[in-house]
Amino acid sequence: MTSDGLARAAAAGIHCLAIPTPFAVGRVNTYLIDDDPLTLLDTGPNSGTSLDALERALVDHGRRIEDIELLVISHQHMDHLGLAAIVARRSGAAVAGLDLLAPWVARYGEAMEADDVFAAQVMADHGIGEDVRLALLAASHAYRALGAACQVTRPLADGSVLSLRDRELRVLHRPGHSPSDTIFHDERRGIVLGADHLIKHISSNPLISRPLDVPLSEEPPARPPALRIYLDSLRATRAMDDVDLVLAGHGEPVLDHVALIDDRFKMHARRARKIRRLLADGPLTAHEIAGRLWGTVAVTQAYLTLSEVLGHADLLVAEGRAVEERGEDGVVRLRAA
Ligand SMILES: [Zn+2]
Repeated sequence: MTSDGLARAAAAGIHCLAIPTPFAVGRVNTYLIDDDPLTLLDTGPNSGTSLDALERALVDHGRRIEDIELLVISHQHMDHLGLAAIVARRSGAAVAGLDLLAPWVARYGEAMEADDVFAAQVMADHGIGEDVRLALLAASHAYRALGAACQVTRPLADGSVLSLRDRELRVLHRPGHSPSDTIFHDERRGIVLGADHLIKHISSNPLISRPLDVPLSEEPPARPPALRIYLDSLRATRAMDDVDLVLAGHGEPVLDHVALIDDRFKMHARRARKIRRLLADGPLTAHEIAGRLWGTVAVTQAYLTLSEVLGHADLLVAEGRAVEERGEDGVVRLRAA
């Protein structure tokens, strides 16, 4: 069954190709844009299953991988860009992506390693034990080959316009879910290709990631305030009043982005109140807070839940409602102010 949103997109020449991934999130939505150049937004992960699915989905539209002329990457996550190098090599397509993303994806292996080192430090700082850290790093290593290095041949500046024959897409950097999240706004049609910036059925997690503007050879400074960055991006998207269709990277299209973003704001406000209440019993590490909020999920999804709590910790600290203190054990705890 095709939703109204996808039918409208198809009428505008944008076809959703849902490609399987091995991740809990399920399929990733890539989009074939029937235009000149023939454009593909995102690819699915680097696996035989995904490549096969992508090829068959293209055939359904009378196309082959070799026909793709422009490949656009929405952000740095492997379920979105894993096949980019293969698609680019087989098709000779130009590869467009945010300028900040280009050096990261060109050195994908090293960049992932640096991200893991950064994440391991954040986890150690905030009370995640070595056993869980090692398990998560092992999982990250196991998944790494689902992405691959790729050359971005057309770096895109934030605010620039990607022009195809039948449409102009405004390139907008919306960091938060990842540091490179980029959305593409067809201002004339009111359509946004939003990737993982805004997803209808799950709140897009503001994962704490190594900043893109710090060279791999350099030690990054303090962790970025991921939730604050994400909420700023959501506010910018909420203010886009000429949008009535957001095509998401997972799940159904978003037809009322303002209502959905307002729901997200409410959810985050509720969570902030809950965390503030937990601190009434005394200082807690972010990992302990995650455990009280989510139980065992705070172990199986330790980095995700830690990122979420730290995002709120940053906001509480900024509002003067909590302070962060590093104990003699080197672990940071949050205390009510
Ligand atoms: Zn993502």
